[in-house]
Amino acid sequence: MSLPYWLEVPLVEGASSIPDPETEIVIIGSGLAGVSTAYWLQTKGFNSITLIDFKATEAASFRNCGHILYGTVESILALAALHGDAIAKDLWQLSIDICHDVRDTVQREGLDVDYKQDGYLVMAVDESEHDEIRGSIKLLHSHGFQSDYVSRKELENKGFCNVMGGRFEAGSAQAHPTKFRNALLELCLKRGLRYHSNIEVLAVDEVKDKVAITTRHHGVLRAEAAVIAANAYSPLLSHFFAKHQLVEPFRGQIICSKPLSKPLRVTYPHSFDHGYEYAIATQDNRLMLGGWRNNTTGGETGTYDITPNPLVKKGLEAFAVRHYAIEEKIEWEYSWAGIMAASKTGFPFIGPTDSQRIFTVSGFTGHGFSWAHGSAKYLAAIMAGDSIPDLVARQFNPRLAPLTRT
Ligand SMILES: Cc1cc2nc3c(=O)[nH]c(=O)nc-3n(C[C@H](O)[C@H](O)[C@H](O)COP(=O)(O)OP(=O)(O)OC[C@H]3O[C@@H](n4cnc5c(N)ncnc54)[C@H](O)[C@@H]3O)c2cc1C
Repeated sequence: MSLPYWLEVPLVEGASSIPDPETEIVIIGSGLAGVSTAYWLQTKGFNSITLIDFKATEAASFRNCGHILYGTVESILALAALHGDAIAKDLWQLSIDICHDVRDTVQREGLDVDYKQDGYLVMAVDESEHDEIRGSIKLLHSHGFQSDYVSRKELENKGFCNVMGGRFEAGSAQAHPTKFRNALLELCLKRGLRYHSNIEVLAVDEVKDKVAITTRHHGVLRAEAAVIAANAYSPLLSHFFAKHQLVEPFRGQIICSKPLSKPLRVTYPHSFDHGYEYAIATQDNRLMLGGWRNNTTGGETGTYDITPNPLVKKGLEAFAVRHYAIEEKIEWEYSWAGIMAASKTGFPFIGPTDSQRIFTVSGFTGHGFSWAHGSAKYLAAIMAGDSIPDLVARQFNPRLAPLTRT
């Protein structure tokens, strides 16, 4: 089945009517970033907001693994090597804060989204990765962060094979991504958000002190401001993204088994091989396993095609046999793919683009669940004229990105 497991819960859809051609703020994209932007803008007092999307079920937000993780796709050692120790430490702290933003939103609003803060286990599949894990733990401790070493024996007792050792972070979490987006969206709709589905945006331009949003079938919508929350799809509708090559699309892929007869011992988020393979157990005891794109020629980059690659599927199936002590023959029921964005800077883009009226919150890769929700909070602060952390203003500023070399 190429429908993601998470889309067994149908998406809340918007009206099929034509949106009001004149509105205050238009948000393009109803994934985790777009809906979170609507939510945070409403908390800042903006109340004339229209959300639009196109082919919503194809969005990465419902095609991920449900991980809500501390950190970024890079280990803290890699972050320190790339940006220096001080920035790496601040980035790590920011990543923790935004994970807690997801938790706090769930608790504050009483969202029923299968949220669990039950940790994240990172496992090494070879000795060099094992060394990196030990080095990362040392560096995390030196900055005052929690991270525990897990021995090979302990990992074997948890049901894994062919792993060297790992690190465990207790604060990371998981949730049902469709339930989270739907619950947040329903809250926003109750608070006055207007939402229209299947409005394909072709271009977003500032014209005479307004934003003109050109659509394929619904004419031109005019707004005081627009937010591009289309992540990997942003270059298809924004000349700013296209011109500066801010993001490159790449395809991630997941398989999910039928319910297994014996309970999986680790049900919380975990990963192997520098995060290239990642997994979770669903509430009905299925193994959901994604990744393996790094073993393909070209790494699945540069495509918007969400057809699963059969080679990746085969690779993931073999990976499960090699690394999980599951005695029964695993039957794979779901197989799907989704498109994420490799950002030019390695960070999300949050803030105004080359127009003071056209904003973005985009550029999310494999840690986008928490980063999308947290980044949207900072974007709402920027749009409301409130202060944001220095790090966000500096590292995530879309206007500075064109100056960054690829
Ligand atoms: C296989 C896979 C596994 C992943 N695993 C994890 C994980 O476990 N944890 C994690 O944190 N992250 C994970 N991610 C990444 C995460 O899902 C994304 O970073 C995040 O969902 C991005 O959210 P978004 O709202 O920015 O973008 P999307 O969810 O991609 O939403 C884009 C939106 O733009 C709209 N749009 C696009 N084009 C147009 C247009 N022309 N006109 C109008 N609207 C348009 C779409 O309708 C959609 O609503 C994974 C991703 C994939 C693909």
